[in-house]
Amino acid sequence: MRNKIMNNEKKVDHQDEDTRHLFELLNNNSDWVWEVDAQGRYTWSSEVVTELLGVSPKEVIGKTPFDFMPPGEAERVAGAFGAIVMEKRAFSGLVNRNQRADGSIVVLETSGVPLFDEQGELRGYRGIDRNISNLGERVLQLETIYETTPVALCMIDRQGRMVMSNKAMAKLLGNTVPQGFESHVQQLMPDYWPFFLTDFALADNGEELPSRELGWRDRCYDIQSVPVRDAMDAVVGLSVTWVDITERRHAEHKLASANKVLQQYAQLDHLTGLFNRRYMDECLLAEIARALQEDFPLSVCLADIDYFKNYNDSQGHQAGDDCLRIVAKTLTASQLRSDNNVSRYGGEEFLIILPGTDLAQAMGMAEGVRSRVSALQMPHDASPIGFITISIGVATLQAGQPECEGKPLHMIASGLIHRADTALYAAKRQGRNQVVSARDTSCS
Ligand code: GH3
Ligand code: MG
Ligand code: MG
Repeated sequence: MRNKIMNNEKKVDHQDEDTRHLFELLNNNSDWVWEVDAQGRYTWSSEVVTELLGVSPKEVIGKTPFDFMPPGEAERVAGAFGAIVMEKRAFSGLVNRNQRADGSIVVLETSGVPLFDEQGELRGYRGIDRNISNLGERVLQLETIYETTPVALCMIDRQGRMVMSNKAMAKLLGNTVPQGFESHVQQLMPDYWPFFLTDFALADNGEELPSRELGWRDRCYDIQSVPVRDAMDAVVGLSVTWVDITERRHAEHKLASANKVLQQYAQLDHLTGLFNRRYMDECLLAEIARALQEDFPLSVCLADIDYFKNYNDSQGHQAGDDCLRIVAKTLTASQLRSDNNVSRYGGEEFLIILPGTDLAQAMGMAEGVRSRVSALQMPHDASPIGFITISIGVATLQAGQPECEGKPLHMIASGLIHRADTALYAAKRQGRNQVVSARDTSCS
């Protein structure tokens, strides 16, 4: 009997020893151990809270973690914690800012496990808080940058799950943060999954990952993956940035069409809408080069309105302009081939370039143009002919002409125009309203 009592006393001693040991462990520790009820109110606290928050365990009981946080932070953490409680799950690494009794800020990392009663109802959480002020402030800053940057960011693991995403990414996905099966990129954006698979393969081979320009819904993105590696340097995921370049692309399109319009302005004559002389000089050089290279003839027709000064003087400048437009239209309508370029080469002078056309063909075409203009029967009282007419000089660059060899293109061009001009002059001298070929002049 005596022995039994002795044994029991020993047992009690042991239990006291264990309890003391346990309390020592709980209170002489860098981690603050606590318990909260289902409403998040502290029901138990180790003494470490005094070191972390500057309050005694007694002062903590009945309060919630949010009572120790600055307002904005309380809201942010309450949001995150609310989601955890809804799922009644364990959590870890929840970084949060707290205000100590003296007003200073301490950054804690909170982890916890749910506690259930006998009926399986959630009765609270038990967990620990660790002071990570030095590292934590930096983590929070980086988290804020990650979360609030206008660039969509996400992390994709090797199984293709989007394990992390920021606000801009949620917006890109239609304001949702994908969970569970839906967080698989294969499911979320099936068309893009092959690109990320390629990126994983390239990253495994140590190759650089390309950036891609892709459309997603009605936006355009510049997408770049960067491999995320573990301590052993194995690729465990991809960190992906999605830069929205829709506006830039729109601006570029606008600029391109504005440039096109400007280019057209630079090429066209504003009065008649025909090509201008500047463009035509370039065009002639290109056509001569093509003719020489491909060995085909090239003809030019230089047309000039007869007695146009008189027309202006008698009908007025406005009527003169109208006449120029009508003649221009008639010349364009007479074009036989799509590569025949018609231009206003000077005041009332027009140049037609006829690639692949020999002199006889060009003479026929010029005659057709001349007769179309005279057939308009536009009254011109100050002309001996009585209506508007044109004179045309025609010159041809024959295929395989040996005198062209080694000559610069611009000299060949000016020679050709000069011959057409001389023929035109001859047409004027011979009575106007006619076509003369350079061959029939001393210049040919
Ligand atoms: P020719 O039969 O020998 O060609 O005589 P012409 O009177 O047509 O030739 P000239 O070179 O003496 O006169 C050309 C006229 O063309 C002079 C100028 O007033 C007129 N002209 C040039 N550019 C324009 C223009 O843009 N609009 C108008 N209305 N007239 C123009
Ligand atoms: Mg004239
Ligand atoms: Mg003239």
